[in-house]
Amino acid sequence: MHLPQHLPVGLPKAELHLHIEGTLEPELAFALAARNGVTLPYADTTALREAYEFSDLQSFLDLYYGLMAVLRTAEDFTELADAYLEKAAAQGVRHAEIFFDPQAHTARGVPIGTVIEGLGAALDRSEERYGISTRLIMCFLRDESAESAMATLEAAKPYLHRITGVGLDSAEVGHPPAKFREVYEEAARLGLRRVAHAGEEGPAEYVREALDVLGVERIDHGLRCMEDPELVGRLARERVPLTLCPLSNVRLRVIDTLADHPLRAMLAAGLLVTVNSDDPAYFGGYAGDNFDAVEAALALEPEQLRALARNSFEASFLEDDEPRRARYLAEVEAYDFGA
Ligand SMILES: [Zn+2]
Repeated sequence: MHLPQHLPVGLPKAELHLHIEGTLEPELAFALAARNGVTLPYADTTALREAYEFSDLQSFLDLYYGLMAVLRTAEDFTELADAYLEKAAAQGVRHAEIFFDPQAHTARGVPIGTVIEGLGAALDRSEERYGISTRLIMCFLRDESAESAMATLEAAKPYLHRITGVGLDSAEVGHPPAKFREVYEEAARLGLRRVAHAGEEGPAEYVREALDVLGVERIDHGLRCMEDPELVGRLARERVPLTLCPLSNVRLRVIDTLADHPLRAMLAAGLLVTVNSDDPAYFGGYAGDNFDAVEAALALEPEQLRALARNSFEASFLEDDEPRRARYLAEVEAYDFGA
């Protein structure tokens, strides 16, 4: 694989905040629609790509959930994951911890086993094909009920050998972490790692609640912790990783422009921050593109970019394979940004 040298896009990195459903590019959406006899309300890929220029969170979610109708068979999920891994490899990703949303599929009549085995087929050969090691994280939709989340965890039990952890995503405000206390207790009992989206649109208090009530080990987004100095101190002290998604924050209007991103301030505060792509097909870029974008917008120095890459491997769930983590960290240290 040829990678561009001397640029942050080629810097070896782990991607820890990536929704596989958010990697569905217009071309693949049309190909799967044709194969499955699904009619999309767009004339062609150009019209669909224009629809990706949504204006707010709701228009994004409408498009996002609407397009999932093309994902029907295990093979569809395999192709989706293969397409992501190929792109990620070209952007320096060496390890990916991939989110998926089973409820978005089971609600349409697609069995959870179809989703997991379909994704799993691509992940099984990811290392050989793309040089990327992977983990799978099953997310619950927080705007659905706690009972639905518990039923999803129950349905996933035959497939736990494929799942490293659980997460919590979708519309945050009004759905505090504590709603899912029992589900997370059960996940912990099953030996699953725990993460949750918190402090993206929701308040800093949701970050604290995710840590204290759900026992999460990583916070997805977490931007709004910056409104709470006491919380920032705790996150830094306890080395709780935050998986930031800069291009997503701009597209979803969490911030106005990339230049307003608190990434620099978060690094300065000693926070263990990482840079990720969230839903790259919709938000204008994959992992390396996010690195490039923050380098340009925030004038980051090479050593700050290297620190972000180092953080990504430190924050990853590689406790079951420390020699691999050490190899990746050595690649980060050896990376040459050039003059
Ligand atoms: Zn996300």
